[in-house]
Amino acid sequence: MPAMTRKSSIDEETYDVHPKLIEDLVNQTPRVAIATILVSIIFIGIFHQFVPPLILGLWFTLQILATAFRLRNARNFTRFLKEGSHGDLRKNEKFFLLFSIIQSISWVISAALVVTYAPQPYEMISLVIAIGVVNAAALSMSSIYKGYMIFFFLIIIPQMAIMLHYGERHHIGSLMVILIAIPATIILSRAIHESRMEIITAHDELEDSVKKLYELSISDNLTNAYNRRYFFEASENLIAIATREQNQASLIMLDIDHFKRINDTYGHQAGDFILINLAREIRNALRDSDILARIGGEEFSIFLNHTSLQGARVVAEKIRSVIENKTFEYESNRIQVTVSIGISELNSRNTTADHLYKESDRKLYAAKASGRNRVIL
Ligand code: GH3
Ligand code: MG
Ligand code: MG
Repeated sequence: MPAMTRKSSIDEETYDVHPKLIEDLVNQTPRVAIATILVSIIFIGIFHQFVPPLILGLWFTLQILATAFRLRNARNFTRFLKEGSHGDLRKNEKFFLLFSIIQSISWVISAALVVTYAPQPYEMISLVIAIGVVNAAALSMSSIYKGYMIFFFLIIIPQMAIMLHYGERHHIGSLMVILIAIPATIILSRAIHESRMEIITAHDELEDSVKKLYELSISDNLTNAYNRRYFFEASENLIAIATREQNQASLIMLDIDHFKRINDTYGHQAGDFILINLAREIRNALRDSDILARIGGEEFSIFLNHTSLQGARVVAEKIRSVIENKTFEYESNRIQVTVSIGISELNSRNTTADHLYKESDRKLYAAKASGRNRVIL
């Protein structure tokens, strides 16, 4: 059943990071960019009185570049997700890690500038900025958790070194606070990451169930062909298109000959076995675009899009002959069946699925009346 086994072109198993987490990251990136630039401007506002303008200008340029790279990286994520190119996505994840490192180094440089140029207690302001940055990044970066961890430690460890370097009571106190905050921040970011994953998994499972339920609702559970309701719905839609575009379409009705005898001779289960395998044989004789449905007990219909009456006759004759020559082996019984087939085509008289169906049914009846195991159009 080709229409029933749709699979997205993106196979989630093959990713380091779930595609939806990447989408989250992409959505967060513009906000990250604005926040980064804002904090950098605040930093310049506070420290321009101490740090030489040229150095501050170079630092700001680095921040802008790192931010621009991250925006570009996010745009590439979107593109590669759409294209489903796994290799490119992997590479882009590596670039994300690289830009995270560059951005964290940029913050470390800002701390180094403070230590070099500004008097005490400005190193405490630098510490507050660093803590603010890593906390905000917990939200925006924990989708690619490895990236966040690198970013976090690259910023925090130099801050701890700076506190140790000054070594006064309030520095040591701050160091203690950082030491306590590290596990707390890691646990928090991990929790954000996991709760996102839970939501995504639940959503995937729900989507899967909906898909399965839909497939059940349109298929016949014995033969796995489509059911009657879906057949008429889908045929009507295809007829509407065919009429508008002046394309051909045909409808085949097929009924097993003397099926009651099969049940009576070999039992109902043997009959079911034949129905299942006969549907498979028919399916094999069709194109993916043809719609095969089990319309009643041992009656099947096939809607052939873009197919003339003569084209449908070729298909029907192939099916008839395949079934005639097939031996169904059930337990130790070798069972042979034949089928009778009626065909109609879309034309000025047959303009709806119902018309086509009734016309094919009349032809099927004629096939039965004239000796069975034949195709009539
Ligand atoms: P004809 O050549 O005129 O079509 O003869 P027939 O015996 O096939 O026709 P009829 O309509 O009299 O009988 C159809 C039989 O199909 C009746 C029923 O026992 C059997 N049947 C219908 N649905 C199923 C099913 O799901 N499983 C099985 N095993 N048999 C079924
Ligand atoms: Mg029959
Ligand atoms: Mg019948």
